[in-house]
Amino acid sequence: MKPKHVPAAAGAPDPYFPNSGDHRYRVHRYELALDYRPGPNRLAGSARLSAVADTALTEFALDLAEFRIGRVLVDGRAARYTHRGGKLRIRPARALAPGAAFTVEVHYTGNPRPVRSPWGGLGWEELTEGALVASQPVGAPSWFPCNDRPADKATYQLAVTTPSPFTVVASGRLLTRTTRASSTTWVYEQSAPTPTYLVTVSIGHYRPVPLAVRPAVPQTGYVPERLAAAFARDFARQPEMTAYFGEVFGPYPFGEYSVVIADEELDVPVEAQGVATFGTNHLGAGWEHERLIAHELAHQWFGNSVTIADWRHIWLNEGFAKYAEWLWSEHAGGPGAAVHAAAAHRLLAGLPQDLRLDDPGRKLMFDDRLYQRGGLVVHALRRTLGEDAFFAMLRDWTGANRHGVVATSDLRAHAARYTTAPLGPLFEAWLERPELPPLPD
Ligand SMILES: [Zn+2]
Repeated sequence: MKPKHVPAAAGAPDPYFPNSGDHRYRVHRYELALDYRPGPNRLAGSARLSAVADTALTEFALDLAEFRIGRVLVDGRAARYTHRGGKLRIRPARALAPGAAFTVEVHYTGNPRPVRSPWGGLGWEELTEGALVASQPVGAPSWFPCNDRPADKATYQLAVTTPSPFTVVASGRLLTRTTRASSTTWVYEQSAPTPTYLVTVSIGHYRPVPLAVRPAVPQTGYVPERLAAAFARDFARQPEMTAYFGEVFGPYPFGEYSVVIADEELDVPVEAQGVATFGTNHLGAGWEHERLIAHELAHQWFGNSVTIADWRHIWLNEGFAKYAEWLWSEHAGGPGAAVHAAAAHRLLAGLPQDLRLDDPGRKLMFDDRLYQRGGLVVHALRRTLGEDAFFAMLRDWTGANRHGVVATSDLRAHAARYTTAPLGPLFEAWLERPELPPLPD
């Protein structure tokens, strides 16, 4: 075990998204009360943030997309603010001292829409019937004011009021559901530290489909009625998968796992804290479907519990989630991880080798090559460390950094403790240089 620490990168602007977040303070709790009307796509919200100043602050910034701002209070007193370019800059009536705890309250209304990005719209997305949220990496300000940086993890209470026929699924445990007139308020509590990009809400006509609970992790699908049987069939092995990942990655890090099948086709499934969202097109049988279930589930450990300090380290999320697919295949009696690794290596050998894994740049951070090569690094580590040391290293990584924040340098230092062989050459070849190294025997 090592003490929870804040990597050096946490105290600086994100190198890929320097306009996101404000590294001069940290938020430890968000309380969001949202009223959402799906037809007109109308959101009225209030957000209360509890934060700590890391330095003296005469002003600070929150990230928030285009909404009409009602009022802004700091420690209960009206504060001056400006709001443009996605930044809500707040000047409290009284300056904040270093180390001072403070609260910010923001009231806002508007029509939420996705934040534009090179990967399409991010964040709040209106559906034909309802809405969903998929924020990675910088979509959270599309629906709530936040300090939008992955290292700034906080607990959340989400109270969502919407017309009663709709079901609301959110990160965390459902505390209460109260119906008044034709509206219902759903209150969810997420007590695990959560980065802004992993906070989610899904609103739709969903039927809960509980999956058999083999590990003690409640798992529920929220599924359009007509797809309930297909979901129960296609996700039948997810509890077994959770049990297996619990063995190799350590105990499941959250109180529950919900899967939303949105009633639309989606490009890719997306992970959120304790939740994954799939499209109707992701249902089906066969490896290409099953590997997505494994991938999203694995993110609960890699990304969600063990969170990257900034977006340069994205391979720590995607490489381990990719390798989890291969581990599951091996465990479930399909091709072994070595077979998947060899195939990935052949694939990458035929593609441009211009990607540096530990700093891919914003443009390539979600490139499929990063996923494949990330999986290969983990496999190379397994080959080099040997089975026992590799799996001990894996479990200790998620254990020591549970609900924490990490950088690539942390993994390098961690892995080095499980072997007497120098790992420097392996990491340099796989992480720092673009050419594809051979797989270790
Ligand atoms: Zn992923």
